[in-house]
Amino acid sequence: VRKAGGDHIVSLSNETHKAINRRSMIEKRLLLALDQRNLKVLYQPQVDLQSGKITGVEALVRWEDEKIGVVSPDELIPIAEETGLIHHIGSFVIEKASRQAVEWQSKGLNLKVSINLSVREFRDKNMAKSILSTLAKVGCPANIIQIEITEKFALEAEAETSIIKQMRQLEDQGITFVLDDFGTGYASFRYMQLLPIEVLKIDKTFIRSLMQSEKTQRLINGMVHFGNSMNLTVLAEGVETEEQKELLKSYGCDAIQGYLVSKAVSEDEISELVKK
Ligand code: C2E
Ligand code: CA
Ligand code: CA
Ligand code: CA
Repeated sequence: VRKAGGDHIVSLSNETHKAINRRSMIEKRLLLALDQRNLKVLYQPQVDLQSGKITGVEALVRWEDEKIGVVSPDELIPIAEETGLIHHIGSFVIEKASRQAVEWQSKGLNLKVSINLSVREFRDKNMAKSILSTLAKVGCPANIIQIEITEKFALEAEAETSIIKQMRQLEDQGITFVLDDFGTGYASFRYMQLLPIEVLKIDKTFIRSLMQSEKTQRLINGMVHFGNSMNLTVLAEGVETEEQKELLKSYGCDAIQGYLVSKAVSEDEISELVKK
């Protein structure tokens, strides 16, 4: 019995040990990957429900390391935020996605490109400036770029005047802000007054239970109406079925994103999808 207990302790600490190893491995390899520009960006289409056309895409970072394998954004982003490497991921995605936006435009594809940025990135007082200088460098018009911030971001930004200032500065140049994961955070509507938000993105957890629960249907209907009455564009993410799409359309939702249309794909596949 004593022996078994001892083994148990050893195996527990092995688990912890493994987790720590993986983390430091990810940190090390990520630095290298950033240096060698080994990250990728894929794009997930967004469809306008009135026209049925693809009018925008969300840029999503992808990383497959030759030693570690695929590291999902859900694992990668929190580590990058804690270590500060998120700034480098942000610059990489902004440059890559805005270059792509310009390329699509030159081919006659009018697509808005959304980029996810975290609150930590906006604590850098030069964030707005560096975004604008990247756009200028690659010749990308600011009004085709959207920045997605989460409700958590909005709540923290509400108390930080330098972040609000930077958001306004970007808004002045034509960049629009999307409130991501809407409905999952804290029921504070104060940031709606303070922050220059133009798009509400209803979180996919609500959409998932849309067909099962009448309560969820009323909730989503309410969110869409709230957005419309605030003059915001309302987009639903995680739309996987035709039924979900039709219901959302009947509520007056403006746009959808999700596997029903397409998962995140390469820039060339986006061009193909738009032409269809
Ligand atoms: P998010 O911003 O909420 O992005 C949507 C996530 O839902 C993406 O996961 C996307 O692939 C997934 N998704 C899309 N359609 C569907 C669907 O129909 N059903 C379901 N179940 N899922 C769907 P992904 O790419 O793994 O990204 C996870 C999160 O990582 C993102 O959530 C975002 O918060 C973060 N992230 C991704 N790329 C970046 C980035 O470049 N910078 C930052 N700061 N965060 C990023
Ligand atoms: Ca997002
Ligand atoms: Ca989301
Ligand atoms: Ca609307």
